[in-house]
Amino acid sequence: MLIDLSIDLDALRDNYRRIRQFCGPGVRVLAVVKADAYGHGLVPVSRALVAEGVDYLGVATVSEARSLRQAGIKTPILLLLGIVPHEAAVMVQQDLEVVLYRRDVAEALASQARQQGKVVPVHLKVDTGMGRLGLAVEETIPFLDWLKGFSELRVMGLISHFAVADLEDKTYTRQQLSRFETLLREARHCGWPLPLSHIANSAACLELRETHLAMIRPGIMLYGSSPAPERRPPVALRPVMALRTEILQLKRLPPGSSISYGCTYITTSDCVLAVLPIGYCNGYSRHLSNCGQVLIRGQRAPIRGRVCMNLTMVEVTHLPALREGEVVTLLGADHGDRITADELAAWAGTINYEIHCLLGNSNPRRFSGA
Ligand SMILES: *Cc1c(COP(=O)(O)O)cnc(C)c1O
Repeated sequence: MLIDLSIDLDALRDNYRRIRQFCGPGVRVLAVVKADAYGHGLVPVSRALVAEGVDYLGVATVSEARSLRQAGIKTPILLLLGIVPHEAAVMVQQDLEVVLYRRDVAEALASQARQQGKVVPVHLKVDTGMGRLGLAVEETIPFLDWLKGFSELRVMGLISHFAVADLEDKTYTRQQLSRFETLLREARHCGWPLPLSHIANSAACLELRETHLAMIRPGIMLYGSSPAPERRPPVALRPVMALRTEILQLKRLPPGSSISYGCTYITTSDCVLAVLPIGYCNGYSRHLSNCGQVLIRGQRAPIRGRVCMNLTMVEVTHLPALREGEVVTLLGADHGDRITADELAAWAGTINYEIHCLLGNSNPRRFSGA
């Protein structure tokens, strides 16, 4: 096996069902599957969710959307980052929906829609406080008025994104929601029905119900991690990704031996070391040097010295009678203990999202429960 990155599609399905149940039947679900489904595999994850009846899939790029269409997926797909004008032709061909905030893109889309005899659904992006993509709140109604000239574009709704929905203090998030809802009311007053407006990411979905509106956009929680790891989420989530390897070599080192590049770890007594065939080229971050842990037979073993490109060393002096070839768990459960993406993230100084992307996008994946 050497390196085994497994994706448990049963766990994914469970998470989806629990989220759906939590939100109730009136709310649609757009599953965010950008970045290769946060490293979990775009097409297998999307297929599993489509089989569960997901309403929308959200991707970052036209090429991701195309892969989904090529896989035979007919579910509505929303391009969350929008497009640039030269992508309009493919976008319309593939029957995609798009987040819109640029006039030149609207013109390119309308022209393509006319040529191809189609109507393009668009979601107008508003920046309510994220400070990233989107129109300013006060630009939105003028933009909508300008769009009246394009019968080829169908405005489905407004979309916005939260900056700090994962914080326990929801003051800023409530301000963003209130700007969004005020704008929605004004736009509806001007005659735009905007039936599919949405703003809730995982954190907002779990901790601020009034953000659900017509549709939610869960990402991280589908994959079994919490957007706010310091608090227990109201929905039980099952981790989907696990990473295992095996012991490549076991060796004894006398006191005063140095381990790995830079000699950053020196043994102080007799040490049994396990060398593992995994490193930062597999997305196992070099930031884990001298601070990460792995599980062997359900016991913790600490990383000694620097994580290399293809190798990592862990101390197993306290684990008797190990053998080369034994299973090592780097992410996931082993005999009653578990290393979570949150733990790896804390050691590496990042967030669970990045751990999933790094590990998932650097290793071949094995799917179970398909
Ligand atoms: C990535 C993304 C999400 C999902 O966020 P999570 O925190 O993973 O739930 C939702 N909406 C937009 C616009 C995104 O880019």
